[in-house]
Amino acid sequence: MSGKKNIPSLAECLAAADETKALRVQKNCFNTIPEILKEYFSFSSVFLVADGNTWDAAGKTVETALLDNGIAVAGKYIFPAEPRLHAEYDHIKALVEALGAVPSFKETVPIAIGAGTVNDLGKRAAFEKELPYLCVPTAASVDGYTAFGAAILMDGFKQTLPCTAPRCLVADTDVLAGAPAYLSSSGFGDLASKIIAGADWIISEYAGKAGAVGADPIDQKAWDMTQNGLMDYLERSVTAAKGDGEAVNALFEALGITGLSMQFLKTSRSVSGSEHLFSHVWEMEDLSINGVPVTHGHKVTIGTLAATAFTEIFFADPEGPPPAHKNFRLPTGSERMVEVSGAFKNSRAHDGVVKIALEKLPDEKNARIINDAFRNNWKEIRKRILEQLVPYSELKKLLAGAGCPLIPEDINLNRNYTIATARRAQMMRNKYGILDLAWVTGAFETILSRMEESETYLR
Ligand SMILES: [Zn+2]
Repeated sequence: MSGKKNIPSLAECLAAADETKALRVQKNCFNTIPEILKEYFSFSSVFLVADGNTWDAAGKTVETALLDNGIAVAGKYIFPAEPRLHAEYDHIKALVEALGAVPSFKETVPIAIGAGTVNDLGKRAAFEKELPYLCVPTAASVDGYTAFGAAILMDGFKQTLPCTAPRCLVADTDVLAGAPAYLSSSGFGDLASKIIAGADWIISEYAGKAGAVGADPIDQKAWDMTQNGLMDYLERSVTAAKGDGEAVNALFEALGITGLSMQFLKTSRSVSGSEHLFSHVWEMEDLSINGVPVTHGHKVTIGTLAATAFTEIFFADPEGPPPAHKNFRLPTGSERMVEVSGAFKNSRAHDGVVKIALEKLPDEKNARIINDAFRNNWKEIRKRILEQLVPYSELKKLLAGAGCPLIPEDINLNRNYTIATARRAQMMRNKYGILDLAWVTGAFETILSRMEESETYLR
């Protein structure tokens, strides 16, 4: 690529997104919520949703700002502060019922005041009542605030339920800066994951031209929104977890913009790649520390380190990919089914994953075309990937500065298990990236062995 990168402004990103109309992050801005409501909603009252912690941190101030401006608060639903709130579907049922009990609820605006979980619960409940809603984020902890869809625990299994993104978001700098440090470092990890999401997208573009399943071409606009300002945003937000207002503003804005790129693209391709696949595996296993679930962003952080190590090893040699493992040969459909079925044998995701793994299994001819495409364009692809990656050692320093977990043990995983997670991560989605590419070249197990032997990766 030549010339200056086009970094779309927040206003341009909002214009590209079709659900969210306004995103404000600044100091003492809750008193602007009344004017935002009047500008973007037609309503007669609001309904506040929070938990005990976020009510204290922001809810009371929001309520005062609303009442002072003559806005009717038709009801509120405050989840207990303890134990930590989970995104369970039963909570949505309760919220939907409470919203339905509001007289003329069609004219009420739900306002979700909280971090990822409160927002996801409020988002889905508002959607079920067909109401546009306003989000007051209390931590820069995920990119999901501006995303459509809500990650909800249903039948003991985390699923993304469809729903519309918030129409408006209003975040106060002091509230974000005052959030627990682990929430800001989670957001930082979720933002850093976009480095790998970009590398996977580059791989996906080449694989798509060679006919691979689940491989998407790069959409330049969504790419520009997510990638072009990324390194600058990461550098500016390193001190977010230390309560630095400027840094947390930058982090929140960057996460918000990546969510807007999803709204524009209508898929998660621009914001999540193989690093999120690692985290999805641990999510399904309810990875916790002393009974407290590890945050999305912290799982993604270790996924980002693992995926960076994997990608660096794959692209290490200027001449071509690592050699195929001695035991590798392309499996038949039934062999693959046995393998994938065994890997997910006690999982609720079993049937879905088996289906996907078979759908994306290339035949001999497809596999050869994909292999040739990468070998024939190796220098060009390798150059693009190495430009996109932040080298492992630098990435680790960046994450360390931001207070993120740095080794698997920090999130209650062990090193070998983390490396082995790559196998299941590769099976579970139709979203082409480095794991699929390494698999089709036969080098997958070679890479895992090299990761295991490494003195630096995941140590
Ligand atoms: Zn994420």
